[in-house]
Amino acid sequence: TGTTSTRRCWAEIDLAAFERNLKRIQAALPARMRYLAVVKADAYGHGMPPIVRRLMQSGVDCFAVANVAEAADIRHMGAGWPILVLSPLLPEEDHLLLEYDLTATVSTYEECLRLNALGQSHATSIKVHLKIDTGMGRLGIWHRDAPTLLAQIHALPALQLEGVYTHFSSADSDPEFTQTQRERFLAALKADAPIPENLLIHADNSAGIDTLSDDSPFNAVRIGLLQFGVPPYPDSALGRVVVEPVFSFHTRIGLIKALPRGTDISYARTHKLTRDSRIALLTAGYGDGITRELSNRGQVLIHGQRCPILGRVTMDQTIVDVTDCPQAQIGDAVVLIGKDGSQEITTTEFSEKAHTIPWETLCSVTKRVTRVYV
Ligand code: PLP
Repeated sequence: TGTTSTRRCWAEIDLAAFERNLKRIQAALPARMRYLAVVKADAYGHGMPPIVRRLMQSGVDCFAVANVAEAADIRHMGAGWPILVLSPLLPEEDHLLLEYDLTATVSTYEECLRLNALGQSHATSIKVHLKIDTGMGRLGIWHRDAPTLLAQIHALPALQLEGVYTHFSSADSDPEFTQTQRERFLAALKADAPIPENLLIHADNSAGIDTLSDDSPFNAVRIGLLQFGVPPYPDSALGRVVVEPVFSFHTRIGLIKALPRGTDISYARTHKLTRDSRIALLTAGYGDGITRELSNRGQVLIHGQRCPILGRVTMDQTIVDVTDCPQAQIGDAVVLIGKDGSQEITTTEFSEKAHTIPWETLCSVTKRVTRVYV
């Protein structure tokens, strides 16, 4: 488009596709499931404000973020929306729960005592979700110890327990272990019977919902990646929901030059031209999010054709072989992630070539890259 053609490197965010994905995910879930939209890390690199606005319009039940700074950004966009902070708070951040009307995640008795004291000193209650570690080995009270902590929470007058949750370590790769985690989670909850009716009980991330049974006692999901149209593992399009990509990543050709066979390319001379070649210098590099792992491995699309990255990716420039793409010219648009003609490089393909996962790819597109909302 006219506006994007003046840019060196940009990401296009297809908000209509995002809205369609939300509808599809919500339609595929049992009606009672409440939807916690995970929008941490600047909405997985898509830009928090436009994404959060669409989620507010679609009527999600709660936002989930990593920390109080992200939570405050959402609160400034709208009062009243429940916002769950997924990571532990630092003690000096506790008061921000009240200032921004947030819900904290607790997983130790010490945190509970701290927040209870805060609530009491302000003559109010602090909203919390208890996190239970059922096999992730990260945040959460170990599942066997959860019943004791639940009872302790019930006894603290200034804590308002609104939810209980766990997180799967291997929902994308190990359905059996995911089932074990579901069972450990339920066992911990049932030990505290009866489960209060309005308690949010959630475990499933994007990959989890593929194995979430319709009669599951859980009543909420926490969805991040899938909203953005990226399957959490390559075959998951066979699962519950088919989504479309929201994010595409673009740059331009800044220069074209001919070089003779035998020429070394880029830092550390990791590629030597095997023929007389025409190379294009792209106006983006690892300073934009084209990770160095793509050196001599990645491909880009130019005029709908796949062109290989040659040598090391550098901070601001990436070198590609356009010998077989004679139409390539200075100024042409280049697709790093997205569709061009009949070809497509998905976030999944880009990530596999970059030896990483789509979550990291999306978080690694830097501030220098303008987000264009289409
Ligand atoms: N819940 C927690 C605690 C998370 O850390 C994340 C993401 O990392 C999610 C849910 C969302 O996961 P996904 O993006 O796979 O849907």
